[in-house]
Amino acid sequence: MERILSGMRPTGQLHLGNYLGALKSWVDLQEEGYHCFYFIADWHALTTEYADPSQVAEYSMEIALDWMAAGLDPERSVLFLQSKVLEHAELHILLSMITPVSWLERNPTYKEIRQELKDKDLATYGFLGYPVLQAADILIYKAHYVPVGVDQLPHLELTREIARRFNHLYGPVFPEPKPKLTESPKVPGVDGRKMSKSYNNAIYLSDSPEEVWEKIRPMVTDTRRMRKTDPGEPEDCPVFDLHKALTPQDEREEIIQGCRRASIGCIECKRILYRHLMEQLDPIHERRGKFKAHPERIMEVIIEGSKRAKAEASVTMEEVRRAVKLWHP
Ligand code: SF4
Repeated sequence: MERILSGMRPTGQLHLGNYLGALKSWVDLQEEGYHCFYFIADWHALTTEYADPSQVAEYSMEIALDWMAAGLDPERSVLFLQSKVLEHAELHILLSMITPVSWLERNPTYKEIRQELKDKDLATYGFLGYPVLQAADILIYKAHYVPVGVDQLPHLELTREIARRFNHLYGPVFPEPKPKLTESPKVPGVDGRKMSKSYNNAIYLSDSPEEVWEKIRPMVTDTRRMRKTDPGEPEDCPVFDLHKALTPQDEREEIIQGCRRASIGCIECKRILYRHLMEQLDPIHERRGKFKAHPERIMEVIIEGSKRAKAEASVTMEEVRRAVKLWHP
C-alpha cells in the first residue's frame, strides 16, 4: 500500500481555508485507499509560538476533533502527535548534520513568514531549520507521496535533496517522496484577503450556521456593484472565488451572467454560496457534535495513533543508525 504523509501546525482552530486547501484532499486520499499518516505538528507550532506555547496542546486536540469531523477515520488513517514520536527529533538531528545552511536560507517561505509575523522574533535556529524537521517527519515513514499544492513544491524538493544527500553519504535508506498534487483553490477570507486567523477574516469549521451567514452576508464584493443595478465582474469578487471552490459549474455560469448583467443581487449570490457551503459543513458539524461530547475518545485516538506511528518510525531509525554507523548494541 502506498504511503501518504502530511501534517498541520496546531496554531489555531481550523478554518475553511485549511479544509478546502488540505483536509478535504486528505480525506479523499484516505478514501482512495492510500495508507495515510497525518500528524499534528506541535513541535513545528513552537517555531513561531515558542514565547507563549500555552495554547498549543489545546489546539492539538481541537485539530484532532476537526480532522475526525471532516471524515478522517482513525481505523484507516494513522492520526498522531509529532511530539509523541521522539524518533522525529533523533532523525532531525542526524539530518541537520548534513544539511547545508545555504539550502535553508534560500527557502522562500523563510523570508516570507518572517515578514508576515514581524511582531515575533523568528531569528531562531529552530525556525531556520524547520524544513529539516519537516524532512525528518516525511522520511522517517518512507512516505511515497506528500500531498502539496503547486506553491509548496519547493518545500518537498528540499526534503528530496536531503534524502539524496543522506543516501549518497551513508547508503540507500530513504526513497525520495513524490508530490501528490492536490487542488488548492484560492480561499479568500471575508475581507477579501487570504483566509487566515491572524487577519481575523476566517470562517471556522466550528462556526454555527448562523455565524457562517453573519460572516458571509457582509462579505466584500466587486466594488463596481454599488447598487443592484450596477453590473459587476465576478473575477474581481472574493465571493466568486469561494463559488469556484464550492458551487457546481452550471450554477457558476448563471452567476457570471447574472452578475455581469446585474440581474442577480449580491445578497442572492451570497445565499447560493451559503447553501453550497453548508452542504459541506452540515455533515462536519454533525460529526463534530458527536465527537465533542467524548473528548476522551479523541485523546485515545491520538495516543493509539502515536503508538502506531512510533512503531513504524522505530524500524526506520534502526536502519538509519546502522547506516550512519553509530554505535548501538
Ligand atoms: S453578484 Fe456575486 S459575483 Fe457578482 S459582485 Fe455580487 S457577490 Fe460578487
